[in-house]
Amino acid sequence: MTALPLVFQAPRRGMPPRHLADLDRGQRRTAVRELGEPAFRADQLARHYFARLSTDPAAMTDLPASSRDRLVAALLPELATPLRHICCDGGTTRKTLWRAADGALSESVLMRYPDRTTVCVSSQAGCGMACPFCATGQSGLTRNLSTAEIVDQVRAAAAAMRDGELAGGPGRLSHVVFMGMGEPLANYQRVVAALSRITHPAPDGLGLSQRSVTVSTVGLVPAIRRLAAEGLRVTLAVSLHTPDDELRDTLVPVNRRWKVAEVLDASRHYADTTGRRVSIEYALIRDVNDQPWRAELLGRLLRERLGALVHVNLIPLNPTPGSEWDATPPLAQEQFMARVRAAGVPCTIRDTRGREIAAACGQLAASPHSAG
Ligand code: SAH
Repeated sequence: MTALPLVFQAPRRGMPPRHLADLDRGQRRTAVRELGEPAFRADQLARHYFARLSTDPAAMTDLPASSRDRLVAALLPELATPLRHICCDGGTTRKTLWRAADGALSESVLMRYPDRTTVCVSSQAGCGMACPFCATGQSGLTRNLSTAEIVDQVRAAAAAMRDGELAGGPGRLSHVVFMGMGEPLANYQRVVAALSRITHPAPDGLGLSQRSVTVSTVGLVPAIRRLAAEGLRVTLAVSLHTPDDELRDTLVPVNRRWKVAEVLDASRHYADTTGRRVSIEYALIRDVNDQPWRAELLGRLLRERLGALVHVNLIPLNPTPGSEWDATPPLAQEQFMARVRAAGVPCTIRDTRGREIAAACGQLAASPHSAG
């Protein structure tokens, strides 16, 4: 029998203090009542947080001065401090390294495009999936992030856009991708609660559209099926990286537990249930997974198993320090894309933002004190 994948590795450290964004409406009201305040203060506080994106008691003038500090201290504790911001792409990409009170490090990246602004968030500090090409995978899992720690990355990004902190002036955060550190479906309940907070309108959440949110997974099959039953219409991205089990067993070690065919069947189920096309992620690694036969097999498999309900995103590998692997050269990337398309499967090469700021998954947390 093969060893159990690291999915089952228990988080090592404690969770952060309770926060408003951990709670649903009923729980918020109960918490406020327990603090000796009328329940409607919960909605007032939630409006400050989710609609005005504020945690500053001085700005909460609709709350009595005597309660503000107490309510904020009890329900809006600071969860993480930005250790560093690093910008590139002419100031339209900004990566933030966060440190929680217990020292756990996580990252988020804000990316402005002409037609949208996306924040890439972390769902765990570190990751237990051990994919060998991923910087986070090398460092192992520190702990799950709480619901509020996930939501607060989005709130901070929305506030930064509103306040014009990215080149191009004030704007609006429109998209969220769970492609930062961690395996979102290994922190299932907190991630689903975060999805609810991110997509519900104020005062229950930040009010982003479900279809603008993407959850990326290594392919935890039971969790994909469970997510399909949540009634959410978020986009699912599956990190396939190769169509054959032999190589995938090493590139995405959890494949030893759930094989390519099972992952694609679960993806099909997700697409059928939600009506959303599934995105297949494929990091192109020179001479490892970029051969013509793999492009053809990928196209054929996806066409057979997912029909029109799929799209392939090719991501030229962002090499991690010390790795012998490199990205597939541009011409070979184009040829790979053409072969997938020839099978009738839509395929694009992802615009790679933030290379010079080590924005590939986990690279900043792996070297938090390096110059930048
Ligand atoms: N654990 C989730 C989400 C985090 S990573 C998942 O694996 O899907 C988001 C995407 O970035 C995944 O497709 C991951 O395989 C990819 N990735 C990680 N490291 C990379 C690197 N060095 N170069 C290119 N893509 C990378």
